[in-house]
Amino acid sequence: MSDDITFNKNFDIAPERVSEIGPGVRVVVADNPGPFTFKGTMSYIIGRGKVAIVDPGPDDDTHVAALLDAVRNETVRHIFVTHTHRDHSPAVAKVKAATGATVYAEGPHRLARPLHIGETRRLDASADLDFRPDVALADGEIVDGDGFTVEAVTTPGHTANHMAFAWKEAGVLFAGDHVMGWSTTIVAPPDGAMNDYMASLDKLARRSEQLYLCGHGAPVPQARRYVEALIRHRHGREASILHRLGKGATDIPTIVKAVYIGLDPRLVGAAGLSTLAHLEDLVARGVVATEGPPSITGTYRLADAGLAG
Ligand SMILES: [Zn+2]
Repeated sequence: MSDDITFNKNFDIAPERVSEIGPGVRVVVADNPGPFTFKGTMSYIIGRGKVAIVDPGPDDDTHVAALLDAVRNETVRHIFVTHTHRDHSPAVAKVKAATGATVYAEGPHRLARPLHIGETRRLDASADLDFRPDVALADGEIVDGDGFTVEAVTTPGHTANHMAFAWKEAGVLFAGDHVMGWSTTIVAPPDGAMNDYMASLDKLARRSEQLYLCGHGAPVPQARRYVEALIRHRHGREASILHRLGKGATDIPTIVKAVYIGLDPRLVGAAGLSTLAHLEDLVARGVVATEGPPSITGTYRLADAGLAG
């Protein structure tokens, strides 16, 4: 497996306390650490006086109180939401009710593709199906704040509605869970899709922002170089999957065992879904074959290996 990427796991931050994480931007980390969330969800505050919040976080009263406390005597005019997973958007309702802010996002939660017959949504519990933005933003749309300008950057892949937000004056991108410094992103069908995710990485590699503030973990400096490393990392993973299939037809658990060396046992299910995401993409490209639509329980073979594969 080509591992040319360095993840930054040295990030210490106390939950539910406001701290300055960059010039003109503060963060309050929710107290929801875990194998998918690292130290917790990062709720950012842009500006001073008339401010914007990026990702209010989970529906946790302690977190909502800490976030509102961080902006007391200030006016929250904008709430930006990167995507509708339960660790990012459910606090929106309470923060909006307390502040009267306008909520901006790409749209409600939706699947990256229709469900196959008999398919269930394995990560259903992770989606916030109640969320609705006040303003649905399209790619490239600009929102003017008090002393800051934010550009909407559609970045589907982790979820179909994932959106990053570029803070123009600072050259900073709020990258949500699309790019994180501590880990790769989980791309789990049917909520996520690998071809979307790769296209969104290519899109960011062509942008100018060099500092990313992420949904979880430390800021990512030299972000373009990091995005390029993520692209190489995924190509390496795809090559590993193809290498395993080159030895004969097999199923996803066998591929995960061969490809994800030293995997945290809590992440085996997620690794299976990420492998499914790669296989969906490979089947769509005609490189890999399976019976019927690609499924978590399916058997996969190289498309040119014939029936004996
Ligand atoms: Zn998250």
